[in-house]
Amino acid sequence: MIPSEIAAASSSSASFYDICTYAAGIAGNVFAFGLFVSPMPTFKRIVQSKSTEEFSGLPYIYSLLNCLICMWYGLPCVSYGVILVATVNSVGAAIQLVYVTLFIRHANSARKLRMSALLAGVACVFAAIVFVSLEFFDHTTRQTFVGYLSVASLVSMFASPLSIISLVIRTKSVEFMPFYLSLATFLMSISFLAYGMLLHDFFIYLPNGIGTVLAVIQLLLYAYYSINSREDSNMPLLVINTFRSSKKRKFSNQGTHHMPFKTFLNVVIPSALPIKFGASFLQVPLDFSGAFKGRRSLLNPPTLPHLWVMVTGRSLSSRKFPGEKKKEDQEKFNVELATKRLAMASCQPPSTTELVTMDVESVLHMKGGLGETSYAQNSSLQKKSMEAIKHIIVDSATDVYASRAPGCFTIADLGCSSGTNAFSLVSKIVESIHEKARQSERLMPEILVFLNDLPTNDFNSVFLNFPEFTRKLKGGIELQEGSAPSVYLAALPGSFYGRLFPSNSLDFIYSCHSLHWLSEVPLGLVDGNGKPINKGKIYISNTSHPAVPLAYLRQFQKDFSLFLKSRSAELRSGGRIVVLILGRRTDDHSDKSATVLWELLDQSLAIMVSQEMVDEEKVDTYNVPFYAPSTKEIEDEVGREGSFEIDFIQAYELNTSTGDPHKDARITSMAIRAIQESMITHHFGEGIADTLFQIYSGLLSEFLVKQELKCPLLIAVLRKPHQT
Ligand code: SAH
Repeated sequence: MIPSEIAAASSSSASFYDICTYAAGIAGNVFAFGLFVSPMPTFKRIVQSKSTEEFSGLPYIYSLLNCLICMWYGLPCVSYGVILVATVNSVGAAIQLVYVTLFIRHANSARKLRMSALLAGVACVFAAIVFVSLEFFDHTTRQTFVGYLSVASLVSMFASPLSIISLVIRTKSVEFMPFYLSLATFLMSISFLAYGMLLHDFFIYLPNGIGTVLAVIQLLLYAYYSINSREDSNMPLLVINTFRSSKKRKFSNQGTHHMPFKTFLNVVIPSALPIKFGASFLQVPLDFSGAFKGRRSLLNPPTLPHLWVMVTGRSLSSRKFPGEKKKEDQEKFNVELATKRLAMASCQPPSTTELVTMDVESVLHMKGGLGETSYAQNSSLQKKSMEAIKHIIVDSATDVYASRAPGCFTIADLGCSSGTNAFSLVSKIVESIHEKARQSERLMPEILVFLNDLPTNDFNSVFLNFPEFTRKLKGGIELQEGSAPSVYLAALPGSFYGRLFPSNSLDFIYSCHSLHWLSEVPLGLVDGNGKPINKGKIYISNTSHPAVPLAYLRQFQKDFSLFLKSRSAELRSGGRIVVLILGRRTDDHSDKSATVLWELLDQSLAIMVSQEMVDEEKVDTYNVPFYAPSTKEIEDEVGREGSFEIDFIQAYELNTSTGDPHKDARITSMAIRAIQESMITHHFGEGIADTLFQIYSGLLSEFLVKQELKCPLLIAVLRKPHQT
């Protein structure tokens, strides 16, 4: 029945009824519009960066199809009197089409093709629906046919709100469910529910009724979790050395407490389900797996909870990276190189005798500060790899706690470096231990965390992140009355190849991406006359003299053994160490996956030698104090040293590809630069880094266009047995 018919039946209430119906429909249109435009920041970012990054275009394709079907349902040739359904969905379809077009425009060629094919598929499906409904059905059956189609397509979209609800319950966090979106979804659904009921239209009120119920659940969850969070605001107390932070901070109702750090910004931007009820898509940060507590296989990447979740990576800066050079830029690049060569000819690099005597402890440090080339800004790859295995670290720490339940639980992160990575695991460990203490009705232990690195590390920029860490930690822990946990944080400078802590003082140790650094460049890289034997190479390569891998292996064995010995004295019985390092999948030293990044640096240096920008002799005498062991080499050393038992050891590959080889090359070369710059500058002199990494990024781009880069990583959990 259309409003005018009902109006005729009851003229006295006609105008009031009409007003209510149209008011509900128009309100639904307005709220839906708000949801349609909500992904605009995402597209602004895509347009600005001219890249679709890790975003998925699929939700916009599905939304477009939904909008088209529902628009068709709302048109008079299918249903009478529901024109406001047609208006909202035609606006929705237009907006989705713009999104899809922008996406196709800025996607790389493979994704462009796929999205264009999907768009053509949507057009064909919609054309077929229009054709079949016009050709084979009369008006009444046509409405039923299209009505059921629209309900079916809408019901398939319930996966989105359902999974968000389940995510909130599992994580006890509303981080991925911003309040205003749940509210807008609720308002839109209830408006169209009212509209459908007033018009007695089953195809409108059924899906919107379900949408309203789901939105109400979201709002109730929101209220529940944010009230609980607010009650926590007087705890925990966090302390750096002797400073006790007593400030009670208010934290945001947006529930960002599981959110990682600055590099994973602006991630919760929904794309409205542009139809008659209010489901919404979510974009979840790439490392959203942090929100899931459960164990998962190391070799399987975290799976998305459902089809509708979009994935986005670290925040994109609009800066230009030096490395990416496409063919058309080659000429300009050559001119730049020549100019730089002239400029550098006047710089005197240090003398070449520093090869074997490089004092790694004072030279090796990740690029400090928060600048463009800093480790803090260029450690997203390490962050991803930590994310992939963090459940192993967190569970190991929690098991150690549960086995002993000490009043003070002492943790050390060895090789913490600068930036936010240093804090990311601490907060997860504290949360998990807190949860364990709560479950077993024990008082929360005090937690003492030592962040260790070499003295040259930029500890200042680590602690600059401390207030943010405190805020998030406070938000992330459900606190019970009377169980205020205290987390004490301290920096401890020194080499982990030797004693750092008093005897039996630590419960748990972890070290990520640090133990592949050796204490020194292996001594055996020169012959009896002191001449370099690894000429033109800076690490083991498949053309290296057989003495080269042997020298590296010997150094690793010596260092790792000393590491184990030192830790075994410091760790309490039953304590554990988790080590995450770059490694090899095979025993073969020339395993390309473990050496390729160094070989590209060899090639970059060779180009600079050929351009007379770097001395050949300098390259011959430069070797990195780095070694990527195999699992067997670790097992052998642990067995030989004898203090630890291996609970778990595994090699795995981390695929860090974003799908865009040029972007991957930029990210990877910036990461390698942040790691290597201190040593390169020390050995070759100031002024080489910009050009070197420009060349490096170009070579890496070429490599990644042809093949994927998979970094082999090893994780080992070692346990100090109880004394018998
Ligand atoms: N754990 C952080 C940082 C890894 S970078 C992350 O995963 O992102 C590696 C760090 O190990 C560097 O900061 C480096 O200074 C440190 N490191 C290397 N050798 C070390 C040693 N012998 N003792 C202490 N720290 C060391």
